[in-house]
Amino acid sequence: MPADRHKPLSEWFSRWNSPLRKFLSRRNAVAKADLDDVAQEVFLRLLRSDRMELINSPQAYLFQMARHVAVEWAMRARNRMPHDPAWLEELGHGPTRQTVVDSFLGYASRTFARDPTTASEWRALFLQATPQSTRGGGLFPVDHDQWHVTLAGVGRDYPPTDEAGFLEFARSIRSTILFDAIRDAQPTSTISAYRRTENQLRHFDDLPSWPTGFVVLGDAACCFNPVYGQGMTVAAIEACAAAAEPPRAAARRR
Ligand SMILES: Cc1cc2nc3c(=O)[nH]c(=O)nc-3n(C[C@H](O)[C@H](O)[C@H](O)COP(=O)(O)OP(=O)(O)OC[C@H]3O[C@@H](n4cnc5c(N)ncnc54)[C@H](O)[C@@H]3O)c2cc1C
Repeated sequence: MPADRHKPLSEWFSRWNSPLRKFLSRRNAVAKADLDDVAQEVFLRLLRSDRMELINSPQAYLFQMARHVAVEWAMRARNRMPHDPAWLEELGHGPTRQTVVDSFLGYASRTFARDPTTASEWRALFLQATPQSTRGGGLFPVDHDQWHVTLAGVGRDYPPTDEAGFLEFARSIRSTILFDAIRDAQPTSTISAYRRTENQLRHFDDLPSWPTGFVVLGDAACCFNPVYGQGMTVAAIEACAAAAEPPRAAARRR
């Protein structure tokens, strides 16, 4: 992309980034902690546009795009996107066997204003579940002087999403240190829950035949419990490996 194509974008960023963040913060779809990421995604999408010169009203265009990104963002936070290989079967390449390992872990998260009066020798907390206790939780400092608190339970011992239940769950973890930190802290978000945490491997290597030019990467092949925080790394490593060796991969399938 020629460098001068970036010029209007950088001008728009300086002019509109702050109003855009304000606009997004008024929409319930975007958590405060996600504002910067969502605003950045709007500008990244603009960067990919090759018709910027056709945009007459940057403000209207940006805000409309921000509406879409905010809705997508909220959907993605709530769901694992479908990676359904049913069409492969329709094309006659056989069903794809799956292995699923599910600990039925669910988590619920909420942000709180960091309480400066909490005397602490710790910077962050992580209380892992133990064989004796299905419950755990974490507290991490995030932007805007907040704590991001996540409670988790395995074996369908899901943390509740109502205020009292959330606090009670925090109190019931094997140490009350996390509960003590948040019991009087000011919440800055609603409570969001996520339960689709099963690990899933699709055995594409079993397919009796392979469509020409077909490549499977990322969650479509294998997705992990999001709590492991490794899905993006795995997808990126796979993409690099595929880019480095396309001829060999193609040859193997012939
Ligand atoms: C709640 C949650 C938290 C997570 N936290 C982390 C984390 O902290 N760290 C980490 O590394 N990973 C995390 N992950 C995992 C990470 O998001 C995924 O591993 C990663 O996004 C996989 O990338 P992907 O490109 O394979 O799939 P995706 O990111 O799901 O992208 C697939 C895209 O294809 C689109 N698509 C689907 N079907 C079609 C179709 N038929 N036609 C056109 N487009 C289609 C989808 O809309 C989607 O945009 C988390 C996942 C979840 C659900």
